[in-house]
Amino acid sequence: MYPIVYVNKEHLLENVRSVTALCATQNIEVTGVTKVFAGDPEIARIYVEGGIRRLGDSRVENLKQLQGLDAEKWLIRPPMIDEIEALVAYADASLNSELETIQAINDAALKAEKVHNVILMVDLGDIREGFIDHDELVSVAIETEKMRGVHLYGIGVNLTCFSFVQSDKEKMSVLSELAEVISNKIGRKLDIVSGGNSATLDLMLKDGIPGEVTNLRLGESLLFGKERAHFTFLPDTHQDVFTLACQIVEVKEKPSVPWGEIGVDSYGNSPTFIDRGIRKKAICAIGKQDFDVETSTAIDQDLIVLGASSDHLMLDVTDCEKAYKVGDIIEFQLGYFSTMRAYTSKYVTKKYF
Ligand SMILES: *Cc1c(COP(=O)(O)O)cnc(C)c1O
Repeated sequence: MYPIVYVNKEHLLENVRSVTALCATQNIEVTGVTKVFAGDPEIARIYVEGGIRRLGDSRVENLKQLQGLDAEKWLIRPPMIDEIEALVAYADASLNSELETIQAINDAALKAEKVHNVILMVDLGDIREGFIDHDELVSVAIETEKMRGVHLYGIGVNLTCFSFVQSDKEKMSVLSELAEVISNKIGRKLDIVSGGNSATLDLMLKDGIPGEVTNLRLGESLLFGKERAHFTFLPDTHQDVFTLACQIVEVKEKPSVPWGEIGVDSYGNSPTFIDRGIRKKAICAIGKQDFDVETSTAIDQDLIVLGASSDHLMLDVTDCEKAYKVGDIIEFQLGYFSTMRAYTSKYVTKKYF
């Protein structure tokens, strides 16, 4: 039943192979991020088939679904104190920024007779997770190194997610130097120095990344073949892994401008309309609950996406070659947030080919 998301497994596999090979030329190993598709094991399996040995997700529930896959599992958001037991059960590693949480992980791991890997995050300007104070980072690293239920696995940074601060040579050098300082203090090399997400690929391709950085955590680039800093397409990748199909439920000639007194939308904004005269409009049975208009591209380039409410999508199909009628299917190529929403919506069927 519609709406349906079709996943092109072959194209995804080629993306995984191309992007990981590109990273390998710079001695960067990839953690494949699965949160975009809610940790669907059917898709994560393709990461593993493409040679990825580490999987990362921001939800423990998603990692739990990936137990059957032969890969290390990382929680890539600082864990909640409330989920530490599940974290120790289903994740091999996690990104951390609070000593209190690391102590709780240590206690739970000792109880479970496990060793959990801890990666300490540094905030280098994006103002999301991580230590701002480098001395505090080093002292927490030393404390972590003393614990028996956790292993100090390494350090990492995340950029271009909240403040959209870009990765640059200087920031990567700071990360490398911090790794060296910690290595000297604990008398061994760190296993992981994780230089960021798909937004760091642009720097890697242009200037290279300092030798100390050994890992990137990638979602967007694997799935959509794009680096995230300038949205350029990566060589030998496909942009059409996820296609959404929805069905038309109404087709009518309607004016382009509403009539009556106009109120505000759910966000408190007053909508504006362009007067194109009487147009042929179609409504599809899909809405904001199932996908995101801004990060979706209609395959029929002649149609105009007018907007969506929770479960209606309004299209202007006047200029289309095809004479759309009720029951016809409209297709979209999905980007990041649209895919994420489609995967979170129970109303969207997922099909793999
Ligand atoms: C989402 C996320 C990633 C992956 O980001 P992409 O832009 O999809 O590559 C990596 N690391 C962290 C901490 C994240 O939250």
